[in-house]
Amino acid sequence: MSQVMPQVETALGPIDVNDIGMCLMHEHIIIADWDMRSNYEGYVDIEKEVPKAVASLNKAKERGVSTIVDLTPVNLGRDIHSILAVSKATGVNVICPTGFYWTEEPWMHGWDSDYLSNYMIKDINEGILDTGIKAGIIKCASDHPGVDDFNKKLLQASAIAHRETGAPISTHTTVSNSSARDQVAAFKEFGVDLSRVVIGHMGDSSDIDYLEEILSNGCFIGMDRFGLEAFLPTDVRVQTVATLCNKGYAGQMVVSHDACSFQDFFDGEYVEKFAPNWCYEHVPRDVLPALAAAGISQTDIDTMMIDNPRKVFSKKGSY
Ligand SMILES: [Zn+2]
Repeated sequence: MSQVMPQVETALGPIDVNDIGMCLMHEHIIIADWDMRSNYEGYVDIEKEVPKAVASLNKAKERGVSTIVDLTPVNLGRDIHSILAVSKATGVNVICPTGFYWTEEPWMHGWDSDYLSNYMIKDINEGILDTGIKAGIIKCASDHPGVDDFNKKLLQASAIAHRETGAPISTHTTVSNSSARDQVAAFKEFGVDLSRVVIGHMGDSSDIDYLEEILSNGCFIGMDRFGLEAFLPTDVRVQTVATLCNKGYAGQMVVSHDACSFQDFFDGEYVEKFAPNWCYEHVPRDVLPALAAAGISQTDIDTMMIDNPRKVFSKKGSY
């Protein structure tokens, strides 16, 4: 009997993990607050924003990107209908998220991690709203408050959903505190398979010792904010990835932008002016050639862009 390859759920249905291809592991299509959207007409003009996202993603597709992972948590405005529209129009696979951002929503306070995990498990096993689209990954986040009691509850809820469904976890961290270190410790405590975890935004750091410490846990790290020059310039990010490749860590890094075609954090014109390369095509257009120029082999580049995403989404054992 031929071996059945693992599948991953996308906006357009399940695909073989071997068909993921070149994958941007941490992106967003639309980030727009649902409270504002449902109370202020025109808060975001989706009719205008979906074609913009299609045009932007098509530029990455022309440069070889075949899959992106949208990591917009529910409480940052996950918009499954816009994700579906963009995926349909571009033909780019979009792996959809479940999970909650680090912000302390009042409704969450009276509920425990088991209860919160039920929403994630529902999205993964049954699908999101009435679309039939199943979430393929669990997003969670720790920011400037760090892994405090509230945040640990969210990490535990993510761990419960991961253990129950076999879906991988991808995170947001800040470099200004030890949140990556504390996330790893929490995941160990909660029985998470760290080989199915991407600790995100590690590329905001160029501290090789710190990065190696996190890598020593067997997780992937996200070198995933290319184009956010204000946080760290591209050449420093490239050099950090190259240094880690030369130390043998290509098998544990994924490369992405954390870009958003639309986000409501800042004025869009401001973003275009101050972060013009913060878009889906920067990695294939500029970063991969820069890595090659820094002496990184095509094999290592393919490992980071194709093989590692496939491994993240390959369920193991009894899952
Ligand atoms: Zn993000």
